[in-house]
Amino acid sequence: MKKIAANYSRLLRDISTSFRMASEKHQVTCRSGCFECCAKGFFDITLLDALHIRDNLKKVPAHIRERVVETANAQLDLLEQKGAFFRSKPLLASLAAIDALSRRSAKMRCPALDERGACLIYEIRPLICRIYGPTVRGPRRAVRLTGCGYYQRELPDRDFPLFSHYAVRDRLMKEMFTRAGRQRLWEVDTIIPAALALDLEPWLTPAALRQKSFRKR
Ligand code: SF4
Repeated sequence: MKKIAANYSRLLRDISTSFRMASEKHQVTCRSGCFECCAKGFFDITLLDALHIRDNLKKVPAHIRERVVETANAQLDLLEQKGAFFRSKPLLASLAAIDALSRRSAKMRCPALDERGACLIYEIRPLICRIYGPTVRGPRRAVRLTGCGYYQRELPDRDFPLFSHYAVRDRLMKEMFTRAGRQRLWEVDTIIPAALALDLEPWLTPAALRQKSFRKR
């Protein structure tokens, strides 16, 4: 798992570099001071992203780590009260589950977002946080990633090869689940509060699917 985690860290850095270079070339920038995509409810991240965040959280200064984990736990409490997400079932295995959670958390902000709109876990943020914003298009203007709508310009995938990046990520995810003994269901998602507050590693194994509860950190 350590080797997969190291390879994923490297991939995330490469993707950030590739995105920055393409953005500079096409003069693509966020609206100044905008953090709307971090403040409109929870979106799905892969289990690989979640484990990467958890593994690297120890690199975040203790006072920040405590703050984001505390906020994440409070949000998980709220989601459980609303019946929208449960610590005992922290994986989202269908688009319907992701859509439902996204709708029910629409007024919640990411637990890693501070009052000034800065990301408190910037160096270890998940993949989607590194690339979300502009629409990415492939040949014949096929949409590779739908943008947030605020960008005037788009990125062509000849300069930001999103699907190639996804292919490397998917190989790592498959390897991760295969090593854990899973034959199927190698792509499952969760949300950032769960990645920050819960130990999700047991969910890699088939036996862990029968596990009923998680401890808080
Ligand atoms: S992890 Fe950081 S970049 Fe991603 S949604 Fe949270 S605050 Fe925003």
